[in-house]
Amino acid sequence: TPAAPHSASGEAVRTFDLSAVAPPARPARRWTPRRVVATPAAYDHPHGRRIMALAEARGIEVERLRANRLTGVRGETDRETYARAKSTMAIVVSPPARRTLQPIAPSADWRFDLAEGCPAHCQYCYLAGSLSGPPVTRVYADLDDILAGLAAYEGRGTITSRRAARRDEGTTFEASCYTDPLALEHLTGSWRRAVEHFGAWDAPVQLRWTTKFDDVGTFVGLPHARRTRVRLSVNCAPVSDRMEGGTSRVADRLAALRKLALDGYPVGLTIAPIMPVEGWRTHYGLLLDQVAAAVEGVPELDLTAELITHRFTPGSKEVLLGWYPRTKLEMDEESRSRKHGKFGAVKYVYPAGTMAELRGWFEAEIAARLPSCRILYWT
Ligand code: SF4
Repeated sequence: TPAAPHSASGEAVRTFDLSAVAPPARPARRWTPRRVVATPAAYDHPHGRRIMALAEARGIEVERLRANRLTGVRGETDRETYARAKSTMAIVVSPPARRTLQPIAPSADWRFDLAEGCPAHCQYCYLAGSLSGPPVTRVYADLDDILAGLAAYEGRGTITSRRAARRDEGTTFEASCYTDPLALEHLTGSWRRAVEHFGAWDAPVQLRWTTKFDDVGTFVGLPHARRTRVRLSVNCAPVSDRMEGGTSRVADRLAALRKLALDGYPVGLTIAPIMPVEGWRTHYGLLLDQVAAAVEGVPELDLTAELITHRFTPGSKEVLLGWYPRTKLEMDEESRSRKHGKFGAVKYVYPAGTMAELRGWFEAEIAARLPSCRILYWT
């Protein structure tokens, strides 16, 4: 009989009944926007018209804007603007600047966008520091052009060519920098088409995206050719229960990860943002055990982990405090280290001692509890 699994510190790893990870099927969480608008330019694209048809089939009226500019999302107060923007979906053509891809280390060689914005309400949301203006969800009508434009970047990656551990991935393309794909897939079908595009692309390439939703049913059975790695963004219970409003439960995300892995997709964990909350070793240990139960018995499992600690910038803090004035999220400059990011921008990260402690723990515990999992990076 094989020995019971042990954590790096030697204690027996708590094993979970799989039914706790994959509870009885319940409908996946699906967002219904209160208002859907489309710009005139979106009508020129077949995919734009497909998205409109999808909305109408769900009984949502699509409002045709007179110009290619979004109007009517500002309310009387910041709260009202936030609420209106978060419940609006706009079908638009992607800004021309987005068609020149940017490198996106350490996640992937290149970033491309099929949408911008997300209907969920995470109190630490990454979009707060990246997007300007009211947080409307914009979905892109020019999908066919966006996908066709990727071919020019094949073989030009820097991450996958330099890092031996990732060479088998080919040129990597990240499609979730400014949005959450599974929050929007039922309204757009965009990521399904991207999976098929990469599946038919006979070259060493990989599509990547990460999500906090669980609506994966329509991805099962697609001809993905193992060229799409879906990562489920997960966190320990004190963080996910209190700070990830409007997302799917972690147990449901892990059940989704299992479904994709069983369908032959390479899968992954984005453990983010890692926070040294009280009792973090216990809480993150339970999370890793839940993951272990979720992937148990999956044949040819290809599982990776990306480990991202919490950080904030003066700009993201200001936006987040506007969105979530009563947040309990710790954003105390005094207890953090100042770092200079790209273009000299200041960001606040955990001090070196805390970082080393967290990193050492995650590396040891992932090796012990999820031995087949490859860690792609820590940041
Ligand atoms: Fe932001 Fe991601 Fe949460 Fe959406 S799911 S609100 S993009 S952190």
